[in-house]
Amino acid sequence: MADYVGDSIELCLKAKNERDAEIILFAAVDFMAESAAVLNPDKKVLLPSPGARCPMAQMLTVEEVRRWRKKYPEAPVVLYVNTLASAKAECDVCCTSANAVKIVESLDADTVIFGPDSNLAEYVSEKTGKNVIAIPPGGFCPTHLLFQPEEIQVLRTKYSDAVVAVHPECSREVRGLADFVGSTSQMCRFAKSTEFKTYVIATEVGLLHRLRKENPGKEFIPAYDAVCPNMKLNTVERLYYALQKEQYVVRVPEETAKKARRALEEMFTINARVRGV
Ligand code: SF4
Repeated sequence: MADYVGDSIELCLKAKNERDAEIILFAAVDFMAESAAVLNPDKKVLLPSPGARCPMAQMLTVEEVRRWRKKYPEAPVVLYVNTLASAKAECDVCCTSANAVKIVESLDADTVIFGPDSNLAEYVSEKTGKNVIAIPPGGFCPTHLLFQPEEIQVLRTKYSDAVVAVHPECSREVRGLADFVGSTSQMCRFAKSTEFKTYVIATEVGLLHRLRKENPGKEFIPAYDAVCPNMKLNTVERLYYALQKEQYVVRVPEETAKKARRALEEMFTINARVRGV
């Protein structure tokens, strides 16, 4: 049903470059629809289900960001796009799981405050060698924590020719068993550009639909049937009612939107410079 399918960065870019449509229906969770509204202040952005809230985004409050900034005044604050607009408004630059390493690498600082996913923070620290302070400590995506190293090992034995691709929001133990660690858009590119026949995938199970569609002839095995119940609130019925009734309009206060926009634009600027989405 969609005009565009993509991960947070792909959809952010689509929303940013959208010129013609007056209404953007964002079948996603709250923070993504908020980003679309922040980047398109003149458009009506609709979220089909007002209950589609990302629990990880809720973990990081404005007060928490301010508290850590006060503690480490020299450290830039990098926030994953999986945060509410109010938190984004408090940071220096946003990032996605696809560009987090490059964004942090590009900053002229050895210590960086990073939230809200502590697994992604740890992964970024491993890759950049920088001191990455995770805020809030122990923030996590409940869906990606469903993957367990024991299950990956069982699948490795069962599908001995398979490659294992894992999202960086998974735990360190799960990442340690992967052949490839990357965001959903990077997993899609990896599957397209490699010649393996079988892939074990550790991310929200909905991505397997896209992978199978884009790669007929290849086999994709979920490392676990990890469903994000929040994203799955976007049913066909709710999309229908959202379009029919023009509900539920996403509103971000202008002052917050202005600051959050600056942090998102900074991410786009660094991306363009390092060419690395
Ligand atoms: S999978 Fe669900 S809970 Fe996890 S970050 Fe995405 S929206 Fe949030």
